[in-house]
Amino acid sequence: VYGIGYHFPDALTYFDKRSEIFTDSLFSLLAVGLALGALTKFQLKIYDEERKINKEQQEELKRINSSQNNFFAGMSHEIRTPINTIIGLNEMIIRENQDEKTREYAAHIQVAGKLLLSLVNDILDLSRMEMKRMEIFSERYDTRDMFQELVDMIQIRAMEKNLKFFVDVDSNLPSELVGDERRIKQVLLNILTNAVKYTKEGSITMLVNWDETNPEKKLLRVSVVDTGIGIRKENIQYLYDVFKRFDEKNNMKIEGSGLGLAISKSLLDLMDGEISVDSIYTKGSTFTVVIPQQVADATPIGEEGFLENSHKITYENYRQSFEAPEAKILVVDDNEMNALVVSKLLEATKV
Ligand code: ADP
Repeated sequence: VYGIGYHFPDALTYFDKRSEIFTDSLFSLLAVGLALGALTKFQLKIYDEERKINKEQQEELKRINSSQNNFFAGMSHEIRTPINTIIGLNEMIIRENQDEKTREYAAHIQVAGKLLLSLVNDILDLSRMEMKRMEIFSERYDTRDMFQELVDMIQIRAMEKNLKFFVDVDSNLPSELVGDERRIKQVLLNILTNAVKYTKEGSITMLVNWDETNPEKKLLRVSVVDTGIGIRKENIQYLYDVFKRFDEKNNMKIEGSGLGLAISKSLLDLMDGEISVDSIYTKGSTFTVVIPQQVADATPIGEEGFLENSHKITYENYRQSFEAPEAKILVVDDNEMNALVVSKLLEATKV
Protein backbone atom coordinates (compact mmCIF):
# COMPACT_ATOMS: atom_id res chain seq x y z
CA VAL A 1 0.00 0.00 0.00
CA TYR A 2 2.85 2.39 0.83
CA GLY A 3 4.42 1.54 -2.54
CA ILE A 4 1.19 2.25 -4.44
CA GLY A 5 0.73 5.49 -2.47
CA TYR A 6 4.24 6.64 -3.39
CA HIS A 7 4.02 5.83 -7.10
CA PHE A 8 0.32 6.61 -7.71
CA PRO A 9 -0.71 9.27 -5.15
CA ASP A 10 -3.92 9.91 -7.14
CA ALA A 11 -5.20 6.45 -6.44
CA LEU A 12 -5.38 7.14 -2.72
CA THR A 13 -8.44 8.32 -0.82
CA TYR A 14 -7.61 10.58 2.09
CA PHE A 15 -9.43 10.31 5.41
CA ASP A 16 -11.10 13.44 6.72
CA LYS A 17 -10.96 12.61 10.40
CA ARG A 18 -8.37 11.12 12.68
CA SER A 19 -10.94 8.70 14.09
CA GLU A 20 -11.50 7.27 10.59
CA ILE A 21 -7.78 6.54 10.37
CA PHE A 22 -7.90 4.70 13.66
CA THR A 23 -11.04 2.74 12.74
CA ASP A 24 -9.53 1.78 9.42
CA SER A 25 -6.28 0.70 11.05
CA LEU A 26 -8.21 -1.31 13.60
CA PHE A 27 -10.18 -3.12 10.90
CA SER A 28 -7.04 -3.78 8.92
CA LEU A 29 -5.42 -5.24 12.01
CA LEU A 30 -8.44 -7.40 12.69
CA ALA A 31 -8.63 -8.56 9.07
CA VAL A 32 -4.92 -9.45 8.97
CA GLY A 33 -5.18 -11.14 12.38
CA LEU A 34 -8.17 -13.21 11.28
CA ALA A 35 -6.48 -14.16 8.03
CA LEU A 36 -3.31 -15.22 9.88
CA GLY A 37 -5.34 -17.14 12.44
CA ALA A 38 -7.25 -18.99 9.74
CA LEU A 39 -4.03 -19.78 7.91
CA THR A 40 -2.35 -21.11 11.05
CA LYS A 41 -5.40 -23.20 11.86
CA PHE A 42 -5.42 -24.60 8.35
CA GLN A 43 -1.74 -25.47 8.54
CA LEU A 44 -2.17 -27.09 11.95
CA LYS A 45 -5.00 -29.15 10.52
CA ILE A 46 -2.79 -30.38 7.68
CA TYR A 47 0.00 -31.10 10.14
CA ASP A 48 -2.38 -33.03 12.42
CA GLU A 49 -3.68 -35.07 9.54
CA GLU A 50 -0.19 -35.91 8.40
CA ARG A 51 0.78 -36.92 11.89
CA LYS A 52 -2.26 -39.14 12.10
CA ILE A 53 -1.45 -40.81 8.79
CA ASN A 54 2.14 -41.22 9.90
CA LYS A 55 1.09 -42.83 13.16
CA GLU A 56 -1.30 -45.16 11.37
CA GLN A 57 1.45 -46.16 8.94
CA GLN A 58 3.83 -46.83 11.80
CA GLU A 59 1.26 -48.95 13.58
CA GLU A 60 0.59 -50.81 10.37
CA LEU A 61 4.33 -51.42 9.97
CA LYS A 62 4.53 -52.66 13.54
CA ARG A 63 1.59 -54.96 12.88
CA ILE A 64 3.17 -56.33 9.72
CA ASN A 65 6.47 -56.76 11.50
CA SER A 66 4.98 -58.55 14.44
CA SER A 67 2.82 -60.77 12.24
CA GLN A 68 5.95 -61.54 10.23
CA ASN A 69 7.78 -62.45 13.40
CA ASN A 70 4.84 -64.52 14.57
CA PHE A 71 4.87 -66.22 11.21
CA PHE A 72 8.59 -66.97 11.45
CA ALA A 73 8.28 -68.19 15.00
CA GLY A 74 5.36 -70.42 14.06
CA MET A 75 7.00 -71.71 10.90
CA SER A 76 10.32 -72.42 12.60
CA HIS A 77 8.47 -74.36 15.24
CA GLU A 78 6.56 -76.35 12.63
CA ILE A 79 9.70 -77.03 10.60
CA ARG A 80 11.55 -78.37 13.61
CA THR A 81 9.20 -81.30 14.04
CA PRO A 82 9.86 -82.97 10.67
CA ILE A 83 13.59 -82.17 10.86
CA ASN A 84 13.76 -83.97 14.19
CA THR A 85 12.03 -86.96 12.64
CA ILE A 86 14.53 -86.98 9.76
CA ILE A 87 17.53 -86.71 12.08
CA GLY A 88 16.13 -89.30 14.49
CA LEU A 89 15.33 -91.94 11.89
CA ASN A 90 18.57 -91.24 10.05
CA GLU A 91 20.35 -91.94 13.33
CA MET A 92 18.73 -95.40 13.21
CA ILE A 93 20.16 -95.97 9.73
CA ILE A 94 23.64 -95.06 10.99
CA ARG A 95 23.25 -97.37 13.96
CA GLU A 96 21.75 -100.36 12.22
CA ASN A 97 23.07 -100.36 8.70
CA GLN A 98 26.29 -102.20 7.92
CA ASP A 99 26.59 -101.10 4.30
CA GLU A 100 29.43 -98.55 4.03
CA LYS A 101 27.90 -96.49 1.23
CA THR A 102 24.53 -96.22 2.97
CA ARG A 103 26.22 -95.18 6.20
CA GLU A 104 28.21 -92.56 4.34
CA TYR A 105 25.07 -91.11 2.77
CA ALA A 106 23.34 -91.19 6.13
CA ALA A 107 26.27 -89.37 7.73
CA HIS A 108 25.84 -86.60 5.15
CA ILE A 109 22.11 -86.44 5.86
CA GLN A 110 22.98 -86.09 9.52
CA VAL A 111 25.33 -83.15 8.93
CA ALA A 112 22.84 -81.40 6.65
CA GLY A 113 19.95 -82.13 9.03
CA LYS A 114 21.77 -80.68 12.00
CA LEU A 115 22.77 -77.63 10.01
CA LEU A 116 19.18 -77.08 8.95
CA LEU A 117 18.02 -77.49 12.53
CA SER A 118 20.51 -74.97 13.83
CA LEU A 119 19.46 -72.52 11.12
CA VAL A 120 15.80 -72.90 12.03
CA ASN A 121 16.67 -72.50 15.70
CA ASP A 122 18.55 -69.30 14.88
CA ILE A 123 15.56 -67.88 13.02
CA LEU A 124 13.30 -68.82 15.91
CA ASP A 125 15.67 -67.07 18.32
CA LEU A 126 15.77 -63.97 16.14
CA SER A 127 12.00 -63.68 15.89
CA ARG A 128 11.76 -64.19 19.64
CA MET A 129 14.20 -61.33 20.15
CA GLU A 130 12.31 -59.08 17.72
CA MET A 131 9.10 -59.79 19.59
CA LYS A 132 10.95 -59.15 22.86
CA ARG A 133 9.93 -62.61 23.93
CA MET A 134 13.42 -63.92 24.50
CA GLU A 135 13.95 -64.68 28.16
CA ILE A 136 17.01 -65.45 30.22
CA PHE A 137 16.67 -68.21 32.82
CA SER A 138 19.30 -68.09 35.53
CA GLU A 139 20.10 -71.25 37.47
CA ARG A 140 23.13 -72.70 39.21
CA TYR A 141 25.36 -74.62 36.88
CA ASP A 142 28.59 -76.56 37.04
CA THR A 143 31.35 -74.60 35.32
CA ARG A 144 33.61 -77.60 34.69
CA ASP A 145 30.79 -79.51 33.04
CA MET A 146 29.91 -76.57 30.83
CA PHE A 147 33.46 -75.91 29.61
CA GLN A 148 34.17 -79.63 29.24
CA GLU A 149 31.17 -79.98 26.96
CA LEU A 150 32.35 -77.04 24.85
CA VAL A 151 35.89 -78.42 24.69
CA ASP A 152 34.61 -81.87 23.61
CA MET A 153 32.58 -80.38 20.80
CA ILE A 154 35.28 -78.03 19.52
CA GLN A 155 38.16 -80.44 19.89
CA ILE A 156 36.60 -82.83 17.40
CA ARG A 157 36.00 -80.06 14.86
CA ALA A 158 39.52 -78.66 15.31
CA MET A 159 41.00 -82.13 14.88
CA GLU A 160 39.07 -82.66 11.65
CA LYS A 161 40.70 -79.53 10.26
CA ASN A 162 44.15 -80.32 11.63
CA LEU A 163 44.07 -77.27 13.88
CA LYS A 164 45.71 -77.20 17.29
CA PHE A 165 43.32 -76.50 20.13
CA PHE A 166 44.54 -74.99 23.41
CA VAL A 167 42.47 -74.42 26.52
CA ASP A 168 43.48 -72.33 29.50
CA VAL A 169 40.93 -72.06 32.29
CA ASP A 170 41.60 -69.91 35.36
CA SER A 171 42.05 -72.35 38.27
CA ASN A 172 40.23 -69.83 40.50
CA LEU A 173 37.01 -70.13 38.50
CA PRO A 174 34.24 -71.04 40.99
CA SER A 175 32.88 -74.60 40.59
CA GLU A 176 29.30 -73.38 40.39
CA LEU A 177 27.92 -70.13 39.04
CA VAL A 178 24.44 -68.76 38.57
CA GLY A 179 23.40 -67.81 35.04
CA ASP A 180 21.69 -69.06 31.91
CA GLU A 181 24.02 -71.94 31.08
CA ARG A 182 22.22 -72.86 27.87
CA ARG A 183 22.49 -69.34 26.43
CA ILE A 184 26.08 -68.85 27.59
CA LYS A 185 26.98 -72.12 25.90
CA GLN A 186 25.18 -71.00 22.75
CA VAL A 187 27.22 -67.77 22.60
CA LEU A 188 30.54 -69.46 23.35
CA LEU A 189 29.88 -72.33 20.95
CA ASN A 190 29.15 -69.78 18.27
CA ILE A 191 32.43 -67.91 18.61
CA LEU A 192 34.39 -71.15 19.03
CA THR A 193 32.76 -72.64 15.93
CA ASN A 194 33.48 -69.45 14.00
CA ALA A 195 37.13 -69.63 15.07
CA VAL A 196 37.36 -73.17 13.65
CA LYS A 197 35.37 -72.29 10.53
CA TYR A 198 37.41 -69.23 9.61
CA THR A 199 40.85 -70.70 10.33
CA LYS A 200 42.65 -72.72 7.67
CA GLU A 201 45.81 -73.53 9.63
CA GLY A 202 47.32 -72.87 13.01
CA SER A 203 45.45 -72.92 16.26
CA ILE A 204 42.40 -72.00 18.30
CA THR A 205 42.86 -71.00 21.93
CA MET A 206 40.15 -70.61 24.54
CA LEU A 207 41.10 -68.53 27.58
CA VAL A 208 38.73 -68.45 30.54
CA ASN A 209 39.26 -65.92 33.26
CA TRP A 210 37.37 -65.15 36.49
CA ASP A 211 37.41 -61.47 37.39
CA GLU A 212 36.47 -60.47 40.93
CA THR A 213 37.98 -56.99 40.95
CA ASN A 214 34.50 -55.56 41.40
CA PRO A 215 32.81 -57.60 44.16
CA GLU A 216 29.44 -56.13 43.09
CA LYS A 217 29.84 -57.44 39.58
CA LYS A 218 31.95 -60.57 39.22
CA LEU A 219 32.76 -61.34 35.64
CA LEU A 220 33.22 -64.48 33.59
CA ARG A 221 35.57 -63.57 30.74
CA VAL A 222 36.14 -65.89 27.81
CA SER A 223 38.48 -65.09 24.92
CA VAL A 224 38.76 -67.15 21.78
CA VAL A 225 41.94 -66.53 19.81
CA ASP A 226 42.38 -67.88 16.30
CA THR A 227 45.08 -67.69 13.63
CA GLY A 228 42.49 -67.50 10.87
CA ILE A 229 41.56 -65.23 8.01
CA GLY A 230 40.83 -62.22 10.22
CA ILE A 231 38.33 -59.43 9.62
CA ARG A 232 38.93 -56.15 7.77
CA LYS A 233 38.78 -53.10 10.05
CA GLU A 234 35.96 -51.50 8.07
CA ASN A 235 33.83 -54.64 8.45
CA ILE A 236 34.02 -54.90 12.21
CA GLN A 237 31.16 -52.42 12.71
CA TYR A 238 28.82 -54.71 10.71
CA LEU A 239 29.87 -57.90 12.47
CA TYR A 240 26.74 -58.10 14.60
CA ASP A 241 24.28 -57.25 11.82
CA VAL A 242 21.80 -59.91 10.81
CA PHE A 243 22.75 -61.94 7.70
CA LYS A 244 26.08 -60.08 7.30
CA ARG A 245 28.95 -62.20 6.03
CA PHE A 246 32.31 -60.96 4.79
CA ASP A 247 34.73 -62.03 2.09
CA GLU A 248 31.91 -63.95 0.44
CA LYS A 249 34.19 -64.97 -2.42
CA ASN A 250 36.79 -66.63 -0.19
CA ASN A 251 34.23 -67.97 2.27
CA MET A 252 31.90 -69.50 -0.27
CA LYS A 253 32.64 -73.02 0.94
CA ILE A 254 32.19 -72.14 4.62
CA GLU A 255 28.71 -72.88 5.91
CA GLY A 256 27.03 -69.96 7.64
CA SER A 257 24.05 -67.69 7.66
CA GLY A 258 25.41 -64.54 9.27
CA LEU A 259 23.01 -64.95 12.17
CA GLY A 260 25.32 -66.35 14.85
CA LEU A 261 26.98 -63.16 16.02
CA ALA A 262 23.78 -61.11 15.77
CA ILE A 263 22.06 -63.58 18.09
CA SER A 264 25.07 -63.78 20.39
CA LYS A 265 25.16 -60.00 20.73
CA SER A 266 21.43 -59.82 21.54
CA LEU A 267 21.73 -62.65 24.06
CA LEU A 268 24.66 -60.92 25.73
CA ASP A 269 22.70 -57.66 25.87
CA LEU A 270 19.93 -59.53 27.68
CA MET A 271 22.47 -61.01 30.11
CA ASP A 272 24.05 -57.61 30.73
CA GLY A 273 27.20 -58.94 29.04
CA GLU A 274 29.48 -57.67 26.30
CA ILE A 275 31.32 -58.91 23.26
CA SER A 276 34.35 -57.33 21.65
CA VAL A 277 36.71 -58.24 18.87
CA ASP A 278 40.28 -57.56 18.01
CA SER A 279 41.34 -58.69 14.57
CA ILE A 280 44.13 -58.35 12.06
CA TYR A 281 43.05 -59.17 8.52
CA THR A 282 44.76 -62.34 7.24
CA LYS A 283 46.44 -62.92 10.62
CA GLY A 284 43.65 -63.84 13.05
CA SER A 285 40.98 -62.68 15.45
CA THR A 286 40.29 -62.59 19.16
CA PHE A 287 36.68 -62.53 20.31
CA THR A 288 36.14 -61.71 23.98
CA VAL A 289 32.90 -62.24 25.85
CA VAL A 290 32.29 -60.84 29.33
CA ILE A 291 29.26 -61.91 31.35
CA PRO A 292 28.42 -60.96 34.93
CA GLN A 293 27.65 -64.08 36.98
CA GLN A 294 26.79 -64.80 40.57
CA VAL A 295 28.67 -67.41 42.55
CA ALA A 296 26.82 -70.50 43.82
CA ASP A 297 29.83 -72.49 45.01
CA ALA A 298 33.11 -70.59 45.31
CA THR A 299 35.32 -73.70 45.50
CA PRO A 300 37.93 -73.14 42.75
CA ILE A 301 37.75 -75.67 39.93
CA GLY A 302 41.50 -76.21 40.22
CA GLU A 303 44.28 -77.11 37.84
CA GLU A 304 42.93 -80.25 36.22
CA GLY A 305 43.01 -79.83 32.44
CA PHE A 306 40.12 -80.05 30.02
CA LEU A 307 41.71 -81.56 26.95
CA GLU A 308 42.83 -84.82 28.60
CA ASN A 309 39.29 -85.62 29.73
CA SER A 310 37.81 -85.15 26.37
CA HIS A 311 36.46 -88.21 24.61
CA LYS A 312 35.69 -88.66 20.96
CA ILE A 313 32.17 -89.63 20.03
CA THR A 314 31.91 -91.86 16.99
CA TYR A 315 29.16 -93.80 15.38
CA GLU A 316 31.51 -96.52 14.24
CA ASN A 317 30.66 -98.71 17.18
CA TYR A 318 27.36 -97.59 18.57
CA ARG A 319 26.33 -99.75 21.49
CA GLN A 320 23.48 -99.03 23.86
CA SER A 321 24.79 -98.05 27.26
CA PHE A 322 22.10 -99.98 29.16
CA GLU A 323 19.31 -102.49 28.78
CA ALA A 324 16.04 -102.29 30.70
CA PRO A 325 13.51 -104.82 29.43
CA GLU A 326 11.22 -104.22 32.41
CA ALA A 327 11.14 -100.47 32.05
CA LYS A 328 8.26 -98.58 30.48
CA ILE A 329 8.29 -94.98 29.29
CA LEU A 330 5.15 -93.03 28.47
CA VAL A 331 5.79 -90.64 25.61
CA VAL A 332 3.10 -88.12 24.79
CA ASP A 333 3.26 -86.37 21.45
CA ASP A 334 0.66 -85.17 18.96
CA ASN A 335 2.97 -86.22 16.16
CA GLU A 336 2.98 -89.91 15.29
CA MET A 337 6.40 -89.69 13.65
CA ASN A 338 7.96 -88.35 16.83
CA ALA A 339 6.55 -91.28 18.75
CA LEU A 340 8.10 -93.61 16.17
CA VAL A 341 11.48 -91.86 16.49
CA VAL A 342 11.48 -92.19 20.27
CA SER A 343 10.49 -95.85 20.22
CA LYS A 344 13.08 -96.64 17.53
CA LEU A 345 15.87 -94.83 19.37
CA LEU A 346 15.00 -96.76 22.54
CA GLU A 347 14.62 -100.13 20.78
CA ALA A 348 18.13 -101.36 21.53
CA THR A 349 17.68 -100.72 25.25
CA LYS A 350 14.60 -102.99 25.25
CA VAL A 351 12.68 -100.28 27.12
P1 ADP B 1 28.23 -67.03 10.02
O1 ADP B 1 29.49 -67.57 10.57
O2 ADP B 1 27.08 -67.98 10.12
O3 ADP B 1 28.38 -66.45 8.66
P2 ADP B 1 28.30 -65.03 12.16
O4 ADP B 1 27.26 -64.05 12.54
O5 ADP B 1 28.72 -66.02 13.20
O6 ADP B 1 27.73 -65.78 10.90
O7 ADP B 1 29.57 -64.24 11.64
C1 ADP B 1 29.39 -63.19 10.72
C2 ADP B 1 30.60 -63.03 9.83
O8 ADP B 1 31.71 -62.55 10.59
C3 ADP B 1 31.09 -64.33 9.21
O9 ADP B 1 30.39 -64.65 8.03
C4 ADP B 1 32.56 -64.03 8.94
O10 ADP B 1 32.69 -63.31 7.73
C5 ADP B 1 32.93 -63.10 10.09
N1 ADP B 1 33.61 -63.83 11.19
C6 ADP B 1 33.06 -64.27 12.34
N2 ADP B 1 33.97 -64.86 13.14
C7 ADP B 1 35.15 -64.81 12.48
C8 ADP B 1 36.49 -65.25 12.78
N3 ADP B 1 36.80 -65.87 13.92
N4 ADP B 1 37.45 -64.99 11.86
C9 ADP B 1 37.14 -64.35 10.70
N5 ADP B 1 35.90 -63.91 10.36
C10 ADP B 1 34.92 -64.15 11.23
